[in-house]
Amino acid sequence: MSPTPDITLRTPVTAIPGIGPARAEALRALGVRNIGQLVAYLPFRHEFEAGEDKLVNLQPGGVVSARGEVTATRVVRGRKTRFEAVLADETGRLDLVWFNGAHLVKSIHPGMHIRVQGKSRTHAVRTYGIQLVNPRWERVREDEPPMGAGPGADRLRPVYPASESIESRAIEGAIEKILARALPLIEDHFPEQFRRERELPSLADAHRMMHRPDNEQEVLSARRRLAYDELFMLQLAVQLRRAKQRRETRAPALKWSERIDAHIRERIPFTLTPGQDSAVREIAKDLQKETPANRLIQGDVGSGKTVVALYAMLMAVASNKQAAIMAPTELLAEQHYLNIVALLKGSTVRVELLTGAQAKEDRESTLARIESGDADIVIGTHALLTERVRFIDLAVAIIDEQHRFGVHQRATLREKADDPTSTPHTLVMTATPIPRTLALTIFGDLDVSNIQGLPPGRQPISTRVVGTEQRDEVYAFVRERLDQGDQAYIVLPAIDDSDSLRGVRSTLAWLEQSHFAGKRVAALHGQLKRDTREHVMERFRSGLIDALIATTVIEVGVDVPNAAIIVIEQAERFGLAQLHQLRGRVGRGPNKSVCILIGEAVTPDAVLRLDAMKAIADGFQLAEKDFEIRGPGEMLGLKQAGAPPFKVADLARDHDLLRMARRDAAAWIERSPDLADPTEELLRTRMLRAHGQWLGLVDVA
Ligand code: ADP
Ligand code: MG
Repeated sequence: MSPTPDITLRTPVTAIPGIGPARAEALRALGVRNIGQLVAYLPFRHEFEAGEDKLVNLQPGGVVSARGEVTATRVVRGRKTRFEAVLADETGRLDLVWFNGAHLVKSIHPGMHIRVQGKSRTHAVRTYGIQLVNPRWERVREDEPPMGAGPGADRLRPVYPASESIESRAIEGAIEKILARALPLIEDHFPEQFRRERELPSLADAHRMMHRPDNEQEVLSARRRLAYDELFMLQLAVQLRRAKQRRETRAPALKWSERIDAHIRERIPFTLTPGQDSAVREIAKDLQKETPANRLIQGDVGSGKTVVALYAMLMAVASNKQAAIMAPTELLAEQHYLNIVALLKGSTVRVELLTGAQAKEDRESTLARIESGDADIVIGTHALLTERVRFIDLAVAIIDEQHRFGVHQRATLREKADDPTSTPHTLVMTATPIPRTLALTIFGDLDVSNIQGLPPGRQPISTRVVGTEQRDEVYAFVRERLDQGDQAYIVLPAIDDSDSLRGVRSTLAWLEQSHFAGKRVAALHGQLKRDTREHVMERFRSGLIDALIATTVIEVGVDVPNAAIIVIEQAERFGLAQLHQLRGRVGRGPNKSVCILIGEAVTPDAVLRLDAMKAIADGFQLAEKDFEIRGPGEMLGLKQAGAPPFKVADLARDHDLLRMARRDAAAWIERSPDLADPTEELLRTRMLRAHGQWLGLVDVA
């Protein structure tokens, strides 16, 4: 190799011998322009490669690898056409055979030098010598020295994500040529001491071990370091943003005393469950601080999150401030409104409802009361986020069923405060627990309360999965239960029929004339006017309607204890979280509840989902299962929020590493809140490059 001038990590790849314009172009398409990017281009797996040996030394019964000159080839036709070749070196010969390999006659010719690897076995025909069956092969130049560890030694060969115009082997060759000179240029953003304590190799070592590992252990070690880096950078960014928010904004510190606590509890018509109680305590502690609370409250469907929210809102009211709760559907907002008004009956607390469905004058006067401070508690939908809504003194902002909103909406409600330096305390409630690992990444800036357990007296729901051929049986069964005084939900994926979807309207018409004849049945879906919808819900709640034929508008929040049956049609179309939510509409009263999923398991995932529904009742376990089925590839919130994907870290696998990264990032920021030390320059630059933009951290720079 001719001596090349000094290189840096920014030197274009064309400086590498053997990389001409065509290869450079192919690499560019893979996002690799310079040497630094090339060295950062990582293999996605490693292949075992046996060390090469002379032919005379090869033994039967193992993976062997050798090279030599092809001395003869032939195609042997028969029931199983095969291609045979003879390989020779100065010590002996080796027979190669490829079954169904006739096409190889075009690429392997006598006189060619090739390298082969495969399982050796005693010769099938002769009584001596060995044979390789279907070996891997590649062409080599006669004078080319063996790559990697050299003769006699096994090695792990990196396999790179390749493209049509450049194969893994060419990428490997280019990296091979430059690696030794590039490695010393890779600076580490962690001090040596920090790495040693965590048994993390240096960044340069990690890259060496990724591209040219001596053994499996090195691959693991390199992976661990690179995955840790990805997780740490994300944690650092998320937590920095939070620290910044905390420094720059203040929330109103709310009053709390035994007396206030007792007053609030008087309004709640039952004793809080231990799970609710501990969530309430955590919230009360948060809200007394000047630091804006940012808490995720996870509780399974029916665990009683509404009163926990009410507690927080009444704390705001006790300090003469405002509180708001945002629900994902009008139906749920209306229900919250009715509930809360009922609970606060006879008090002086002023409660308002704000939704898009309101009449204009109604809405105008509601807006005026919010702005003047004549409203204490505001319950609404997305409509709360529109520009016209101005609070005079918002202290607590709650987002119910947060999984139905985007990450950005969460931020926006918080910004509804009148004064930019004052941020309301934010509580985010969800019945679809975010898998633990994910909760720690994207939501790394949230504190988490779990409402464990359900209110007393809940019955387990029995879940059945049946095929469409049993539809009639199902509805005959539901009819019996209706006759016994139970109420039912029938859920369909659409309002109107289409090629692939069954709709509410046709199903209602059919049921009224068949199984449900003589019963009181009503439709509920998003196209109904608010008055009609409210009217239907009210009559269902008070038992004047036996069965509701509905779309997923009833998915979240709806709470009618006498409803004990839910039938979900075309259940294969719904996600696991959604099915669990829908199922949670029943099992709220003393009657034995049943959830029947009518579905055709059309895809493997659908089979898994329906099986999971049958087997698992607990929402937390289901969420983990969901994550498992969908895979970390989807990364739910992360992707949605625009975060760059991880290249090495795997959330399904790297739990421990993630926890460590999270802790380390917190400790780091605690020690150095601005990353302003000159020794942190590199860390800071790399963190901002990865996450500055999507997290809006650029102004920290
Ligand atoms: P979630 O929003 O968590 O799904 P809800 O707040 O709608 O659940 O509560 C479900 C039902 O349980 C409501 O009817 C509510 O009145 C009732 N409930 C909540 N907490 C308790 C409790 N501690 N004891 C008895 N019933 C409760
Ligand atoms: Mg709820």
